Amino acid sequence: MTLGKDDRILRAQCSVVPDIDGSIKDFSLAMIETMHAGNGIGLAAPQVGDLSRLFVVHVQGDTPRVFINPEIIGTSMETVPYEEGCLSIPGLYYDVTRPAEITIQAWDENGRPFTLDADGILARVIQHEYDHLKGTLFIDHLSEKQRSRLLTVYNRKFQKA
Ligand code: ZN
Repeated sequence: MTLGKDDRILRAQCSVVPDIDGSIKDFSLAMIETMHAGNGIGLAAPQVGDLSRLFVVHVQGDTPRVFINPEIIGTSMETVPYEEGCLSIPGLYYDVTRPAEITIQAWDENGRPFTLDADGILARVIQHEYDHLKGTLFIDHLSEKQRSRLLTVYNRKFQKA
């Protein structure tokens, strides 16, 4: 799913996964494959057309991680800018300012609950993917002016009708 004509699903609210069963595990592993195939470091369910509260993350030096029904329960006061991109908005990159550290609770693909403190790139990707579950895209964090400038470039490049 990419931003454009068929992007309603990217703007929808995702629903809680009621049961973490074998099919959710299979789906999670398929998401990891799709993320790797796209050379991404994170991928959220709505990006593959599924409205479940689920995303996967794989940053360098770490193992792939699955987050099911996640809740960010803490964020640092300190914020940092970092350049973001998105598999659903190909070709656009822009600095987004977000909390430097976060604490998140979720369930993994085996149905085990966990709590994770993250900083650096891991905290960044988690916040980006978490946003997707609420229908929020990284461009929504920019000013109106920045966003419209970026979207003009994007539409010219990728949305030729
Ligand atoms: Zn994204």
